[in-house]
Amino acid sequence: MDRISHWVDNAVLTGTSGRTSPVTDPATGRVTAQLDLATTAEVDAVVASAKAAAVGWSQTSVATRTRLMFRFRELVEANRDEIARRLSSEHGKVLSDAGGEVARALEAVEYACGLAELLKGDYTEQASSGVDVYSMRQPLGVVAGITPFNFPAMVPLWMIPNAVACGNTFVLKPSEKDPSAPMFVAELFAEAGFPAGVLNVVNGDAEAVDHLLTHPDVAALSFVGSTPIARHVYETGTRAGKRVQALGGAKNHMVVLPDADLDLAADAAVNAAYGSAGERCMAISVVVAVGDVGDPLVDAIAARVDTLVIGPGDDPESQMGPLITREHRDRVAGYVEAGAAAGARVVVDGRDRVFDGDGFFLGVTLLDHVTPDMTVYTDEIFGPVLVVVRTETYVEAMALVEANPWGNGAAIFTRDGGAARRFQHEVTAGMVGVNVPIPVPVGYYSFGGWKDSLFGDTHMYGPEGIHFWTRGKVVTSRWPDPSTSAIDLGFPRND
Ligand code: NAD
Repeated sequence: MDRISHWVDNAVLTGTSGRTSPVTDPATGRVTAQLDLATTAEVDAVVASAKAAAVGWSQTSVATRTRLMFRFRELVEANRDEIARRLSSEHGKVLSDAGGEVARALEAVEYACGLAELLKGDYTEQASSGVDVYSMRQPLGVVAGITPFNFPAMVPLWMIPNAVACGNTFVLKPSEKDPSAPMFVAELFAEAGFPAGVLNVVNGDAEAVDHLLTHPDVAALSFVGSTPIARHVYETGTRAGKRVQALGGAKNHMVVLPDADLDLAADAAVNAAYGSAGERCMAISVVVAVGDVGDPLVDAIAARVDTLVIGPGDDPESQMGPLITREHRDRVAGYVEAGAAAGARVVVDGRDRVFDGDGFFLGVTLLDHVTPDMTVYTDEIFGPVLVVVRTETYVEAMALVEANPWGNGAAIFTRDGGAARRFQHEVTAGMVGVNVPIPVPVGYYSFGGWKDSLFGDTHMYGPEGIHFWTRGKVVTSRWPDPSTSAIDLGFPRND
């Protein structure tokens, strides 16, 4: 069985804590590795490595940083399949979906390759007589990222390229459930030629995270995970004086109007609800069927669900893999039970599907006539369960979205441009889809939700990412012509 430790100074650092966490293949239930969980002293050592590298890295020229980022981009491209294989074997998602994750990760790396443009400041000549004003953005120093299990390669790569491109050194604390892909990414980073200490990985649990949150040498933290931990990270980190962005959970609504293209809406609902076994923060977990679209839409979704192939991620036939752990699978099944008991109509019951072996598989579930008081509506289930809520009108549908505590993504399906325009204006979510169920912004926009889906005010990657990983400075400069120099005690005016 493998042992997975930490990555410090471009080499493996074997853990000494004696505390480990099992890494499991969810398709078989077999433990494939033991992961070392860091002590606070080990976190200190990792941060010290990043701190030692910080001065040199921040002084490294834009030209050199750009060349290294391009080399890293080429290595990620060349190793797409291997990254996908590693993450699929520990996460469980099917290989084609894992390949999609790597493709979206590459977008973020490619954006960071443009750092020369991204870090350009502004310049105003003659802002006042003989005075020029210009701005620059400078790195923060040592920064950290704490990432969830559901995108073990993409979410770290939402953070690392931009942070490092801006001149920071980075400490990553990946999810303990699927650490192999982020460890491999760190190896590729070293292979690209980034100096020792620029990217370090410390594996651990809450002990490591809590130590990073208050560590005096960590300037900023980016977090992605569940809402309770996001809130904890934001509150603790900001109280310790750090810059924090903490992205939390979601319950994404897809509003389907009566004039929508039914086939398009049904396909979209199935793909967005059950892809990656529903373990996506941008998964559609609620369909709001407006007016008389409910019956035909539910029938169309149910018909598509019957043919879904559920199996191991490395089987090319599989469309959906297992859930991340046995406990999580049982928890999701418990929600189906609770929904049925509360009076929802169970159109398709995932618990009926029988699977061979000890993998953490669960069939997909479709619940109709769900009401907002049911736990299947109020909670983030994070599994292959789609609930349908019916409303009479668009206004009622929007009231549901508005009242929901989360605001990550939201989508509308309609042929009416006016309705879509009204939706995009009114909806209380950070990422909006118009006939697009999973509106994850491209790498040159920024990703982030509203309400309990994001603590802090800066979204992830893209322009807001560059802003988050740097601090601004404005210089007001005068090189007077010696012939015009004179004594003047008045407050400087812009004339
Ligand atoms: P999680 O909150 O359990 O874990 C996230 C990270 O926090 C992990 O690295 C974990 O080790 C650490 N952690 C866990 N418990 C902790 C504690 N008590 N104190 C300190 N650190 C702790 O999330 P998860 O189960 O890995 O991921 C799924 C969740 O992430 C879902 O809620 C999903 O919606 C959310 N998510 C959100 C986004 C987004 O962009 N908003 C993206 C992906 C996932």
